Amino acid sequence: MSDAVEVAIVGAGPYGLSLAAHLRKAGVSVRQFGLPMQLWRDSMPEGMFLKSQGFASNMSDPDHTHTLEAFCRATGLPYASYGLPVPLDTFVAYGRWFRDELVPDVEEVLVTDVAQAGGGFEVTLANSEQLRARKVVVAIGVEAFAHVPEPLSALPSSVCTHSSAHTDLGAFRGQEVVVVGAGQSALETAALLHEKGASVQLVARKGKIIWNGPPLPLDRPLLQKLNEPESGLGSGWATWFYSNQPGLFRRLPRSTRVYRARTALGPAGATWLRSRVEGQFPVLTGYSVTWARVQDGGVRLGLAEAGGSSRELAADRVIAGTGYRTDLTRLPFFGDQMLAGLRTVPGTGSSAVGRDYQTSIPGLYVMGPAVAPTMGPVMRFVFGSEHAATTVARQLTGGAVSRSPAAVTAGR
Ligand SMILES: Cc1cc2nc3c(=O)[nH]c(=O)nc-3n(C[C@H](O)[C@H](O)[C@H](O)COP(=O)(O)OP(=O)(O)OC[C@H]3O[C@@H](n4cnc5c(N)ncnc54)[C@H](O)[C@@H]3O)c2cc1C
Repeated sequence: MSDAVEVAIVGAGPYGLSLAAHLRKAGVSVRQFGLPMQLWRDSMPEGMFLKSQGFASNMSDPDHTHTLEAFCRATGLPYASYGLPVPLDTFVAYGRWFRDELVPDVEEVLVTDVAQAGGGFEVTLANSEQLRARKVVVAIGVEAFAHVPEPLSALPSSVCTHSSAHTDLGAFRGQEVVVVGAGQSALETAALLHEKGASVQLVARKGKIIWNGPPLPLDRPLLQKLNEPESGLGSGWATWFYSNQPGLFRRLPRSTRVYRARTALGPAGATWLRSRVEGQFPVLTGYSVTWARVQDGGVRLGLAEAGGSSRELAADRVIAGTGYRTDLTRLPFFGDQMLAGLRTVPGTGSSAVGRDYQTSIPGLYVMGPAVAPTMGPVMRFVFGSEHAATTVARQLTGGAVSRSPAAVTAGR
């Protein structure tokens, strides 16, 4: 058993890296485990752009010196706080820089077990090391929760995969591919497949694809700014509230929180993606996949429309751009004892947390997408890392970390 640490952080994505930066600056003894920016490196397609604006894609650091803008300035990469989509490889490189500069000792090993022991926790790593930690913070994002709905989930992976399984969509050049879904991930996957030489069809259950509007002009009249304020997650008062007030969101009635966390900022395509989809390849809206089977080494899908009509599609492969569903029971490192003590938000697989992100197990914290039904939709975005990291760091350091209000507004 290794020496005890004060805090073990499980996860090295934007949330975990941000928290580690705050705790290290405050002198807390920390060990952090996970593969830095793994989701962004291994589960997103080459050529992708972020949907969030530049100013809303910052990780949180105590001195506000390690922003995406600072990284782009230091490396000469193009950057605009607003209106210029951030390429995936720029964001991955930003994550690497942030880690190298602020949290260089992330340990690239996965956690296989977390159990309560002696008033703290015993953490087991994939390399068999065991350590004691007084507190554990779980920031594991969405990777473990890729969702493939029925009947696609019954197909073998040789013909059906989740969109997160692909970084190189050029591998499908010359193949017929059906993409299922209506969100940014499905739409961008379909556009990239088409641009890389696959023959694509998109199937969406919704009656029409929702497209986000173009960014609002920066110099719009004050009255318009008051009517429709800009914030990290987009424009409008509701979005402003989700972006900037996760602590107040937590006080809304549970049913409202669960509904808003699921539906607010729901599936929609970025404005800059629209011309790469519309008119480029067939988009079948209003159709659900009702059955699916392997046929001639490829796949055959039965589609039904709400109005009652049906049709069939044949393709080499189907890719489910159907998002993620948090379900803590799917995490490999919580055994029955931990799951029994971990209160979830009813109707979801997400952990219930207090205002300090602490779960029903004292000393165990969860942050990021897994607590969206408590802290709101901002937890599904990098922008939420400021609130989460500063709040948890403040709690773990007895108040030594403060949050700059400037960092949680539109920043422009
Ligand atoms: C296709 C796609 C596009 C997106 N685009 C945007 C965007 O444009 N803007 C935006 O703000 N958000 C976007 N998101 C949302 C994004 O997932 C979150 O904003 C962000 O990644 C959440 O950060 P995180 O640190 O919670 O988790 P992640 O970034 O998912 O990191 C999870 C970390 O946990 C680690 N981990 C997992 N299991 C273990 C284990 N057992 N032991 C130790 N470590 C473990 C991983 O190695 C990784 O380091 C997008 C998501 C997807 C899927």
